[in-house]
Amino acid sequence: MAQVEKRTASVPALLEWEYAPAPEARDIVQIRERYGLFVGGEEVEPRSGEWFESISPSTEEILFEAALAGAEDVDLAVSAARGAFDNGWAKLAPAERAKYLYRIARIIQERSRELAVAESLDGGKPIRESRDVDLPLAAAHFFYYAGWADKLEYAYPNRTPRPLGVAAQIIPWNFPLLMLSWKIAPALACGNTVVLKPAETTPLTALLFADICRQAELPPGVVNIVTGDGTTGGHLVRHGGIDKLAFTGSTEVGKLIMRELAGRDVRLTLELGGKAANIVFDDAALDQAVEGIVNGIYFNQGHVCCAGSRLLVQESIYEPLLEKLKRRLSTLRVGDPLDKNTDVGAINSKAQLDRITELVASGEAEGAEMYQPDCRLPERGYWFVPTLFTNVAQSHRIAQEEIFGPVLSVLTFRTPEEAVEKANNTPYGLSAGVWTEKGSRILWMVERLRAGVVWANTFNRFDPTSPFGGYKESGFGREGGRHGLAPYLRFE
Ligand code: NAD
Repeated sequence: MAQVEKRTASVPALLEWEYAPAPEARDIVQIRERYGLFVGGEEVEPRSGEWFESISPSTEEILFEAALAGAEDVDLAVSAARGAFDNGWAKLAPAERAKYLYRIARIIQERSRELAVAESLDGGKPIRESRDVDLPLAAAHFFYYAGWADKLEYAYPNRTPRPLGVAAQIIPWNFPLLMLSWKIAPALACGNTVVLKPAETTPLTALLFADICRQAELPPGVVNIVTGDGTTGGHLVRHGGIDKLAFTGSTEVGKLIMRELAGRDVRLTLELGGKAANIVFDDAALDQAVEGIVNGIYFNQGHVCCAGSRLLVQESIYEPLLEKLKRRLSTLRVGDPLDKNTDVGAINSKAQLDRITELVASGEAEGAEMYQPDCRLPERGYWFVPTLFTNVAQSHRIAQEEIFGPVLSVLTFRTPEEAVEKANNTPYGLSAGVWTEKGSRILWMVERLRAGVVWANTFNRFDPTSPFGGYKESGFGREGGRHGLAPYLRFE
């Protein structure tokens, strides 16, 4: 692929060597020209008669067409889910439900290479991440919730947990199969049936998941997949036949959904945006912290709701830390998501690239100082050089707004109290990171940080046994762990 020079930076690159290409086999996934909707256990043509294209963000090629579900399609999917709920899924012996979930988990493992390639092609994330993070975690979620299916009364002693009914689930594009697993696994384990809508830029793995449901011989209608954009999501939210809505996406759409559901008997969980502080104290192991900072913001091109997008550095170590960080940035390899050496892949869509570009321009205009390493970007596709800003004020847009891209804003602090004050100075409250060798300081910080997850001396670690979710404008409700069961159960 032709390459173009984009920018020259002041810190010299550490590596003089070029890595030889190490491409993963693309033909392990067979992508069809068109995919219909998955309703009642079958692939069906959309009644809307409408289709949309899914493109690969790293090459801009059209990968396939997917159905754009209209109101009638959504209605059929909700009816199929209701039928499956009433006709047996909810009444099935819990141990039998668990068997289906175990089966799905094992098929995900067996087909993980294919699914990882599909995820990287459709969404632009590096194969190393889809292969080593998204896929193992997706399977782990199904294994984990399979284990809970027949133990719900132990999770809630002296109460009688019962399923809610039909769960509508809407997910974003940053971890398509993983978000699907976070949603579908606990819903099914608790005896609900689902209608899931994947994001319009990344429907492929959800469509392959439909095939996995058939392979696992899941009863028809237990899982239904409706592809489409925000209008399809809107039909699902407004549908009178849903009992639960689980949404992961932007705070803006989360607010719209909340307004729509006000006064209706629909249970709601919202997993929204974030602007996490990654706080480094002067006694932290600096090299380790640099790895954590890089993992915190450049992992998955920064398309991570809990990304450590604000770095708070104790003033006394500002200079050595920044020097190490800039050197580390110069070693990140940006490019072909299917190359096993790639660290930072393509930006998920043109719209997202425009948003990142606009916010970065605002950072420069407001007076922050931008640093980008020497970096070659492919000519086609959507790319953004890993970027960091110093001289950032709390009031700058890049310190306040979620960029959802590979852009880090660096601020400083002197005392732990000031770190807490600055970290909490955001409408969001999803995650935070603390780097220090003192256990007592970690606990002191954790008590004061208004964040659903606080990582200590690590960042962006996920585990199905661990609850995840936010405060304030990052939403409410928890996914993962025993806490992730409650949003799918009623007790009355
Ligand atoms: P988005 O809100 O634009 O879209 C998310 C989903 O909602 C998509 O499937 C979209 O089609 C659908 N949608 C859009 N408009 C809708 C409407 N009016 N009614 C119903 N559905 C609608 O968000 P996005 O840009 O796809 O995702 C990025 C956002 O998601 C970021 O803000 C990120 O922080 C957040 N996110 C949060 C978590 C979390 O767990 N808290 C995880 C991943 C992503």
